[in-house]
Amino acid sequence: MSVPLPPGSTVGILGSGQLGRMLAMAAARIGLKTHIYCPDSGPAFDVAAKATKGSFSDAKALAQFASEVQVVTYEFENVSSETARLLAPHVTLRPSPRALEVAQDRLLEKTFISDLGFPVAPFRAVSGVSDLEQARQDLGPTAILKTRRLGYDGKGQVRLGASGDAASAWATVGKAPSILEGMVAFEREVSVLVVRAVDGGLAYYDIPANTHAGGILRRSEVPCGLPEADLARARQIAAGVANALDYVGVLAVEMFHLGARVPLEQRLLVNEIAPRVHNSGHWTLEACGISQFENHIRAVAGWPLGSTRRHADAVMLNLIGAEANAWEKLAADDGACLHLYGKNEARDGRKMGHVTYLMPLTA
Ligand code: AMP
Repeated sequence: MSVPLPPGSTVGILGSGQLGRMLAMAAARIGLKTHIYCPDSGPAFDVAAKATKGSFSDAKALAQFASEVQVVTYEFENVSSETARLLAPHVTLRPSPRALEVAQDRLLEKTFISDLGFPVAPFRAVSGVSDLEQARQDLGPTAILKTRRLGYDGKGQVRLGASGDAASAWATVGKAPSILEGMVAFEREVSVLVVRAVDGGLAYYDIPANTHAGGILRRSEVPCGLPEADLARARQIAAGVANALDYVGVLAVEMFHLGARVPLEQRLLVNEIAPRVHNSGHWTLEACGISQFENHIRAVAGWPLGSTRRHADAVMLNLIGAEANAWEKLAADDGACLHLYGKNEARDGRKMGHVTYLMPLTA
């Protein structure tokens, strides 16, 4: 597929969460249809032209889905390599399965990024209690044990203090293959949202500062307050990763900023990459002419990228669990841009919606 998909074409999306929902709505704005494929119905099912409930290992159902769409993309990174292998003979996958493979295994991800010459937190592979004890000796007493796979929003992680017991930490992560990461004393967390077109052209959104609690993103704010040299370095790292993966679509690169005392080259560590649109870019819906969602759809459909220029300062707050119960008050606040994902059960830690506040542009 070398020419842009014409309006009326269908983009297939694996996954049915809120990111898929916002992708589907953005696609509709430019006359593209979406077809969601997922084992479970979710927020995206309500807004797409078509939705299929099917297993990610059902070769027949995946082939049928592939025959009804012109390109396939993902709204979550844990699409298995088996699913990608089943789809690949039938349809173009964007971004390529290589990006999924790297992003879904923390060991592969950290190794890939440090092999590109970009700094990451010190880490060791851990496959048992004795590895873990050795890794703690190498990295120091305070560290985070993270499962290599299937961890998100703080799940599959345990923090180890000086007195923490290795055996119980190992049990907490379910004895799953893991990495131990040295604790990074960062000053702030930022993320680069870069979009790469089929022809390799790159565009960047302004870089937000992100605040997490309990491993879950709570707040993103632009501008993030970093000087231009640091912003340029962050973009350089993200571009290096996107180009090395021959990436197509929006890629989020989450980073720790260590502060001005550290030399510029070492000041930004990559924490993780997400081969998809990202929660820290939700403010682009209101603060930019073309959102991260539309630009992802444009990229995977082979379209020219739209402007990433920001026309307002913005703060985005996630509505987690019962926080979404304040919807009526938020709906009555004329400064609040409210998004609700249509999930019916407000479980603890579940992202139910978000709200974005715009302010006059300062930088
Ligand atoms: P992750 O699931 O790796 O994105 O981690 C979730 C959050 O935990 C990050 O956004 C940080 O706030 C914190 N965190 C993760 N790894 C580290 C680390 N090595 N040092 C300090 N904080 C970390």
